[in-house]
Amino acid sequence: MSEFALDFQDTATAFADKSDAELREKLRLFKMMNSPLLNAIGTRTAKFALSLGLPVEGLIKSTVFEQFCGGETIEECESVIRKLGRAGIGTILDYSVEGKSREEDFDETKDEIIRTIERAKNDPDIPFAVFKVSGIAPLGTLERLSCRKKLDAKSQAKAERIKRRIDEICGRAHALGQPVFIDAEETWIQDAIDRIAEEMMARYNQTRVIVYNTLQMYRWDRLQFLRDARKRAEAAGYMLGIKLVRGAYMEKERERAAEKDYDSPIQADKAATDADYDAAVEYCLKHHATVSFVNGTHNERSTQLLATRIRELRIDPKHPHIHFSQLYGMGDNLSYVLAAGGFNVSKYVPYGPVADAIPYLIRRAEENSAAAGQVSRELDLIRKELKRRGLA
Ligand SMILES: Cc1cc2nc3c(=O)[nH]c(=O)nc-3n(C[C@H](O)[C@H](O)[C@H](O)COP(=O)(O)OP(=O)(O)OC[C@H]3O[C@@H](n4cnc5c(N)ncnc54)[C@H](O)[C@@H]3O)c2cc1C
Repeated sequence: MSEFALDFQDTATAFADKSDAELREKLRLFKMMNSPLLNAIGTRTAKFALSLGLPVEGLIKSTVFEQFCGGETIEECESVIRKLGRAGIGTILDYSVEGKSREEDFDETKDEIIRTIERAKNDPDIPFAVFKVSGIAPLGTLERLSCRKKLDAKSQAKAERIKRRIDEICGRAHALGQPVFIDAEETWIQDAIDRIAEEMMARYNQTRVIVYNTLQMYRWDRLQFLRDARKRAEAAGYMLGIKLVRGAYMEKERERAAEKDYDSPIQADKAATDADYDAAVEYCLKHHATVSFVNGTHNERSTQLLATRIRELRIDPKHPHIHFSQLYGMGDNLSYVLAAGGFNVSKYVPYGPVADAIPYLIRRAEENSAAAGQVSRELDLIRKELKRRGLA
């Protein structure tokens, strides 16, 4: 191990604020998710039961929801905000309502996102806010915008409302000096998101980075996109905000490309995704004077790589342009060890009504399936800590 490396196997630090009972519950839940059959049955049953209006919300709330979400409202997240804050980890309040389609719902979601920005103001424990454009915009309009097709008057009016909502969010973030991430989504709506995100960056990132766009490095075109985005920012005189992730919609992307018979936008294999991810981190690090970036991953190697490079180059670990981020309920060994090492680290804390958080929870369950490998890493760490405490 290099002299600069962090010890992500330090489970005493990773689980310092988990009681024995909490740790055992985490073990139980991750074991269930590790079983492909139970995982598939669980997610399908939950969807089915909710669609029938069966009273399963309570059960979901006290199990998966509690593991991966902060609560149903901002107020209910307060104890998680404080707990993470005590460990030096920031909270990113993520209002995880998805799948709405009425204009009134989009306005309500936009108002709630603005409330997260207002809650974050002047609170060092909440360094960023976040939103998904699909939460405040009709998918059809985003898709049409992404095809760059000429819009009819109705679609044009919808597109203007989308832009207004996004501008209201980013404008408020700018007025309060509170940075905000725009999440990345499926390729067929991403072009519209990228263009609006750049427009917002040009408007609000003049003196510091307020708006961050997200790049999914499982796409083979994103490394070049990153280089071009930096050049466009330099030419237009604004600072670039970038959140790097690998990408969460791989299966859906491949299936759609096969079904509609176009070239898959996804890299040929995991090694190619990893190589571009590392190259993107290195590129952002090289340009960190004008590019503020977030290493959004649970991959231990990617996290180690950036932490080690920061130390080797003697960059301040608290440099305001370099951040690490994980999701609540996952990768605690990374978040807690990074915080103890003095790095900028935060966690997405999703919240919202239980039923509305189901798509998010299903993505996490699928990502944590045995095939994805993440859950066996989490399980090993939990078991190691239980053993260290003499409980296993
Ligand atoms: C803070 C944070 C914010 C996030 N925001 C977003 C977001 O805005 N948009 C979004 O889409 N996702 C987002 N994600 C999820 C993220 O994209 C990944 O799905 C998740 O983090 C798993 O990737 P990893 O780097 O943690 O781990 P790893 O386990 O190292 O990587 C798994 C990922 O590698 C890629 N991969 C796996 N197999 C292959 C293959 N055969 N070929 C090519 N690629 C492959 C996939 O992207 C897969 O998810 C976010 C994650 C975090 C932690």
